[in-house]
Amino acid sequence: MHRVTLQAGRDKSLRLKHPWVFSGAIAGVDGSPASGETVALHAADGQFMATAAWSPSSSIRARVWSFDAREAIDDAFVAGRVRAAVAARKPMLDAAHTGCRLVHAESDGLPGVIADRYGEVVVVQLHNAGAEAWRDSIVAALVEATGCAAVYERSDAEVRALEGLPPRTGAAYGTLPDRVRLLEGDLSYDIDVVAGQKTGFFLDQRENRRRIRALASGRDVLDCFCYTGGFTVAALAGGAQSVLAIDSSADALAQARRNTAQNEIDDTSCAWREADVFAELRKLRDSAKTFDLIVLDPPKFAPTARHMEKAARAYKDINLLALKLLRPGGLLATFSCSGGISAELFQKIVAGAALDAAADAAIVGRFSPGADHPIALNFPEADYLKGLLVRKKA
Ligand code: SAH
Repeated sequence: MHRVTLQAGRDKSLRLKHPWVFSGAIAGVDGSPASGETVALHAADGQFMATAAWSPSSSIRARVWSFDAREAIDDAFVAGRVRAAVAARKPMLDAAHTGCRLVHAESDGLPGVIADRYGEVVVVQLHNAGAEAWRDSIVAALVEATGCAAVYERSDAEVRALEGLPPRTGAAYGTLPDRVRLLEGDLSYDIDVVAGQKTGFFLDQRENRRRIRALASGRDVLDCFCYTGGFTVAALAGGAQSVLAIDSSADALAQARRNTAQNEIDDTSCAWREADVFAELRKLRDSAKTFDLIVLDPPKFAPTARHMEKAARAYKDINLLALKLLRPGGLLATFSCSGGISAELFQKIVAGAALDAAADAAIVGRFSPGADHPIALNFPEADYLKGLLVRKKA
């Protein structure tokens, strides 16, 4: 194994069991490990720290596999981690609930590995060199641990470019069925695993769809960035009086309509609008439209801290407009899935938006992903999705 020695004083994060080593923390490398190869990380004084996957072209140069020197990094190791992650989700799956995240990267001890289950299909994403190196073992372990009919690979996230990895998509095991359907209790959603966002759907909002459903009865709802209708279908099922669903993607809206139809939900009170949310919120404001419940679940405006300022402005803009469109006593469910925006900062942004909208409002609830998206305590970066339920004073 190639030995990688850290700069003096740069082993602190590893001692806290944080799994990343940045290029600037490295003093020297024995030889030249290949992309994804397992290396041994040592402190400046020579002490063994961890085994890690080597990412020669990323500024995150190494990601820890194990802090235990005796643990070999091999097929059995990778399979063990996959098996443990899948086993932890067993209680979340039954005949009526067929989807959940099976592997949540660092929080499951598998940096860069995402696996989402939709019924008989597992969709896998490999984001970095280490994950890529163990691709075959990961796929085989997913098949063995789940007994799924197919594993479909969506390794097409932009982050792969930072690792010098080209995108790869396609069946990694079995054959993708014509229809991939997810059951969430009495609701179902068809998932476009080939061309949809991320792995095709937002499993991280499962609990929050349920909560929106419970809040929707009799309300006029505005669902911004509705994608394939996750929140819209939930709101309609919850007895919303009307829903206006907005997204800039015609394909997403078409899928959203199909998802509504297949649940045999009457969508005559639902309007689907292909539009830019930033512009459409202004139009709604200018035409004095108002709503009782507004969902704002945009794409991540700040993938990293570098985009923070611009992202903060964008979040403030849509939240300010939404608070203006909210009737007295109305509710705003507002989300950020930006890793670069902390929960604290997000709350500040929403507070600033309320101030500028002259809206007297209070937080009456918080949203987070479900237990299938764990946040390892040594890896706070996993805490990307945050949401606030804000009530405007009656
Ligand atoms: N709320 C969704 C997930 C949103 S994903 C759910 O729960 O499933 C982000 C969505 O925002 C995508 O569907 C994308 O097409 C849409 N989008 C991105 N920028 C947009 C914009 N400026 N205006 C409208 N929609 C936008």
